[in-house]
Amino acid sequence: MKIGVISLGCPKNLVDTENILGLLNVSGATFTHNLDEADIILINTCGFIDTAKEESINTILQATTLKEKDKNKKIVVTGCLVERYKDELEKEIPEVDMFIDLKNEQKIPAFIGLSKNVNTENLYQTRIITTPKHTAYLKISEGCDHTCSFCAIPKIRGKHISRPIPELVEEAKILAEQGVKELNIVSQDTSSYGVDIYGKPKLWELIRQLEKIEGIKWIRLYYLYPTTVTEDFIKAIKDSEKVVRYFEMPIQHSEDKILKDMMRGYRKRRIEKILEWKEKYIPDTAIRTSVIVGFPTETEKDFENLLNFIQQAKFDWLGVFTYSHEEDTPAYKIFKDTIPYEEKIRRRNEILNIQNYITEEKNRQSIGKTFKVLIDGFSQEWETLPLGRTYKSAYDIDGVVYIESQEPVRPGEFINVKIKDVIDVYDLVGEVI
Ligand code: SF4
Repeated sequence: MKIGVISLGCPKNLVDTENILGLLNVSGATFTHNLDEADIILINTCGFIDTAKEESINTILQATTLKEKDKNKKIVVTGCLVERYKDELEKEIPEVDMFIDLKNEQKIPAFIGLSKNVNTENLYQTRIITTPKHTAYLKISEGCDHTCSFCAIPKIRGKHISRPIPELVEEAKILAEQGVKELNIVSQDTSSYGVDIYGKPKLWELIRQLEKIEGIKWIRLYYLYPTTVTEDFIKAIKDSEKVVRYFEMPIQHSEDKILKDMMRGYRKRRIEKILEWKEKYIPDTAIRTSVIVGFPTETEKDFENLLNFIQQAKFDWLGVFTYSHEEDTPAYKIFKDTIPYEEKIRRRNEILNIQNYITEEKNRQSIGKTFKVLIDGFSQEWETLPLGRTYKSAYDIDGVVYIESQEPVRPGEFINVKIKDVIDVYDLVGEVI
């Protein structure tokens, strides 16, 4: 049985896809990139905001057109969209053979007629990673205990449930044995790791264990929540040999009134404090953040203040979401989606324009300096041109370094590169030292 798999959404969803791939593999399936020849098309959907839902639905509809040409083809859909809208989807898209909710993902092989006798207990043991061999995500927990008013994720993924430290260490060891050198720690709320099972945050205890794994050279932290990023947390990054000087911490907004309406549980001062600690202890750290524009109570003045804040804070990387009015959220019940779509887009574009200058300026500061670069692969345009990342860039999200080298370089290698220039705002060019 040949299966074509499409994974949409965030890295956390990709880990689910990789676990399903492993499960299908040990159940006897083979895989194909060519959906025309696939017996089964499996789509792992995303569904937390409008644009993600649209992308998921369009992908399902494209698969149904392939099924029109080949009636024997089966379409199986799982993931966050199914978790939220299973009944509606079953009614609206009957061409799909199976909608499988998250709690039943482990039964996919049995549902599609593959072996029923595979062990579905520890999916991480058979996971197939789809990122380059040297970099992988480690999902340390599922769900979220925060109640941010705009967010549907706790409804979709449930309460925060951390995985035990021994299990995560075992998974990291398996990944290291496969050649993984960079571990990307993901979850909905990484800095609260462990609170649910150990009674207090245990992220650093986990990291101390992960640091002992020889093959792992870089550990990268994603999705830190501002209330749990303390001064000690920043000092721990400083003292760590393997946690790179980079973190992702979505702030969502800067203005107290909006943060309160978003029910984020902190105020602007908290973000300023974190930035001060960062400057004090680890000034060379790159931060990625994200903000939401067009929240129902965001006035023009609030927006301008956010813009000013971004100009002052100078985050290295920044993403902007336009507010999406999601029916399962507190904000949906409390507010009306008052700000027109065009206005949300204007606000988003204004921030992105400003951020482009900041990112370029930050990148220019690297010119003339030498960095350890992890080679990811080769440019799509110029196939012999290697590219990689310094510690300041995360895989598949931030800018890359194109590398001029007389000698061949291999993906997964660390090499020293002197930065010569910035191209197209985000990317760097350098030469091997
Ligand atoms: S922290 Fe807030 S925005 Fe993030 S997943 Fe939890 S509820 Fe959603």
